[in-house]
Amino acid sequence: MYENISVAYFSAEIGLDSKIKTYSGGLGILAGDTLKAMADLEVPVCGITLLYKKGFFKQEIIDTYQIEEADLWDFQSLMSDLGVLCKVNILGEDIAIKVWRYEVKGETGFRIPVFFLDTDLKENPLWAQDLTQRLYNDNRIAQEMILGIGGVRALASLGVTKIRKYHMNEGHSAFLTLELYKHFGETIGWDDGLVKEACIFTTHTPIPAGHDKFSYSDIEEHFKGEKKLLPWHLKSLAGQDKLNMTRLALSLSSYHNAVSRKHKEVSSTMFPDFDIDYITNGIHIASWLCPHMTELFDRYLKGWKTKYSLLEEVFKIPNSDVYKAHLAAKADMISMVNERNVTGAKLRNDVLTIGFARRFIAYKDAELIFRNVEHLKSLGKKVQFVFAGKSHMRDGIGKEIMRRVITHAVELSKDVSICFVPDYDIEVAQKLVSGVDVWLNTPIPNNEASGTSGMKAAANGVLHFSRLDGWAIEGFERNSGGLPLMEYQDLLSLLEYKLIPMFSSKNKSAWVEEMKLAIGNGASYFNTHRMVREYLEKGYKINLP
Ligand SMILES: *Cc1c(COP(=O)(O)O)cnc(C)c1O
Repeated sequence: MYENISVAYFSAEIGLDSKIKTYSGGLGILAGDTLKAMADLEVPVCGITLLYKKGFFKQEIIDTYQIEEADLWDFQSLMSDLGVLCKVNILGEDIAIKVWRYEVKGETGFRIPVFFLDTDLKENPLWAQDLTQRLYNDNRIAQEMILGIGGVRALASLGVTKIRKYHMNEGHSAFLTLELYKHFGETIGWDDGLVKEACIFTTHTPIPAGHDKFSYSDIEEHFKGEKKLLPWHLKSLAGQDKLNMTRLALSLSSYHNAVSRKHKEVSSTMFPDFDIDYITNGIHIASWLCPHMTELFDRYLKGWKTKYSLLEEVFKIPNSDVYKAHLAAKADMISMVNERNVTGAKLRNDVLTIGFARRFIAYKDAELIFRNVEHLKSLGKKVQFVFAGKSHMRDGIGKEIMRRVITHAVELSKDVSICFVPDYDIEVAQKLVSGVDVWLNTPIPNNEASGTSGMKAAANGVLHFSRLDGWAIEGFERNSGGLPLMEYQDLLSLLEYKLIPMFSSKNKSAWVEEMKLAIGNGASYFNTHRMVREYLEKGYKINLP
């Protein structure tokens, strides 16, 4: 049944749909968009991840504070139960793994299976039942053993036997190399080269917290029933002092890549002894385009859903049609925001609207617009803002930044409309990236590996207003509209003297030209179809039939 599958795509989170709560942010969404594009392009791949029954968390804002609740979802109705298929011994106990199958269907009807691993079984000890409840729980080693080792074993028992490449999407799945090493060792001979040839690795963040490091004593304790999996030279592969999952993945893969050109430079400085290439991220456009733009593209750019390069022809669509579609998306967005907003402000349909939605974490610099509150107040009638985003439950600084943003918004509500929409997820993102006029992206440079929300905005003709980091550098080089924010420039002055005048002009042609650049030069390139073709050529080295 699965004999054609030649690539196994491993990711600790996969975000395919807002009903499937197994993602926390950009990494998971990228994994989901990748699998959807592979289904469109008929790539013989399967996905492997964990089934988190309580998701990441559901965010409520009470009195400016983030409240985190379990985000339960109905996996039974979305997936089929393939039964208990394998075991991994963790901390000396055999842990049974059940597998659920979900199918991603591409534009041509091609289907890709995604296998979700589940340890919430009566026969498992309580601590092990907990491993597939929440994303990134306290026992990361055990979660990652289930994903990497359990994943390879589950595939073997499903009869997926012709895999040519194992793709580690981030280091969380790097234990899969140890299972392959043992397998190749017993059947072909102990040889790093065989494992390397079978693996490719993508790194997704330069932030240290994104690179798991485990003490060797913890590793030995967890692997005490799987001792055969620890090769004699583990420390030379994964690090002398601690086991670094990124280093393990780099050492045992034949191709490694970062996710933008800038990120390749940053990653190469972090890991100078490895040759790291880059494949710039993309988005699955059909999943992020609002219904109004979809209708427009269907009318003027027939066949675009299987050939995203057709978006280059957006310049032939009349300006008035493009702007009309955007205004419809803006109206949809505003009614959602005004219903869910927690700051007391209200958005208006005729005012320039700036969107900022992403994880609240220090480097994203969400407070930049509040550096000069008097200036901000003076712009108050000409511009309005909408914020959204979660902060990791253990990121105290991120939570504090979110609280200050909401507090500012409440305090300024008489002068400037600033909204905050709780529980940022795929559905909220779809509304925001298509309905605002400008997408604001202010990472402190060298920290943003890529950033994909700006690509979603570009596909919808929303202008990016961005510091130069991650994908935005390449975006501006490709002349995809919008406005770069240089280090020495003041954000509010650029708003006042550049964006507000262009937006307020009676003649919308300059603005719509920028929108068309975003779609025609930006989205036609920053999409997962282009990205997947690069993975096929450089990483998997397979040709499509
Ligand atoms: C696209 C997306 C992200 C990632 O956005 P960045 O620009 O990388 O911050 C995070 N969360 C959700 C829900 C998204 O849709």
